[in-house]
Amino acid sequence: MINRRKFIRASAFTGFASLFTKGAWSMDETGTVKGKPVVISTWDAGIRANNAAWEILGNGGRALDAVEKGVMQTESEQNCCVGLGANPDRDGFVTLDACIMDEFSNCGSVAFLERIKHPIAVARRVMEKTPHVMLVGSGAQQFAVAEGFPLEEQKLSPNAQKNYENWLKTSEYKPPAINVENLPVVQKGKQGHGPFAPYKLANGEWNHDTIGMVAMDTNGNFSGSCTTSGAGFKMRGRLGDSPVIGAGLFVDNEVGACTATGQGEDVIRVAGSHSVVELMRQGLSPEVACKKIIERIVKIKGAKAKEIQVAFLAVNKKGQVGAYSIHKGFEYAIRTNEMEKMVKAKSIMD
Ligand code: ASP
Repeated sequence: MINRRKFIRASAFTGFASLFTKGAWSMDETGTVKGKPVVISTWDAGIRANNAAWEILGNGGRALDAVEKGVMQTESEQNCCVGLGANPDRDGFVTLDACIMDEFSNCGSVAFLERIKHPIAVARRVMEKTPHVMLVGSGAQQFAVAEGFPLEEQKLSPNAQKNYENWLKTSEYKPPAINVENLPVVQKGKQGHGPFAPYKLANGEWNHDTIGMVAMDTNGNFSGSCTTSGAGFKMRGRLGDSPVIGAGLFVDNEVGACTATGQGEDVIRVAGSHSVVELMRQGLSPEVACKKIIERIVKIKGAKAKEIQVAFLAVNKKGQVGAYSIHKGFEYAIRTNEMEKMVKAKSIMD
């Protein structure tokens, strides 16, 4: 995957950077976008994922179909942190987590899934074809194969292989850390800010880039999806927030929807996406609701908050969109009838 910074730099020449331009676009100061449908997703891969979702949303289709198709795009790309091309766990295996939720509060999730290209599609099958919400590990894989998903070769992508070999040089197990700006790059043999320092690979790639997507369709119905390989070089069997309904994703059709990215452990401990939706239910705007839960995490973490990144991204029934992160550096992609943009989220810390 072309990493985020390189991509933004390279794209300055292709006009992509203008997607960040503030001003003449249809989102007012309350974050309200004009009309339906709307789709938002985390990080810059979200631009392409939104386009895929738009093939459904733009034709009056259902948000559920859109959020599945949207993130399948990212699962098919070479990405450090989503799909089979992603970085492995510390034992060298790519393990994938995903969840999906619709306007009826149906939900499905898979976790610790190996050798299946589209975990999000399997999560949807869990939702639609089983009486359960979550399937994990070999059971999830067995279900996927029974449902006709091909079992892919167990082989790291060239990028992941390179990253893994690099990581093996120190093989130092660090609790997962997330993309932030302005924090030191951890290089071979060097420490960043303590054990939770953000880990940037020697080739310039980050070790996190989960895609979370939420959408409102023309009927005003919400759905969301979230898919990831989790933290690069994580402990085998580790799950983050992304496959956990209420943590990495939550949808309530009366209120809105939220997704999360960042240090999953810290999203889980505040039931992050669910908490944001509950604050929106009480009347807070998406941005303020996201900010409040970020503040809660920062309070819990104390001084350690400096060393982690978490971001929330939400939309409400009025079509207001908002996001907030601990550190500067989180951005999201939005697509409506009138615009297609990257937006830099506000943050508590620089
Ligand atoms: N939230 C994901 C996890 O903890 C990682 C990420 O968003 O980058 O697994």
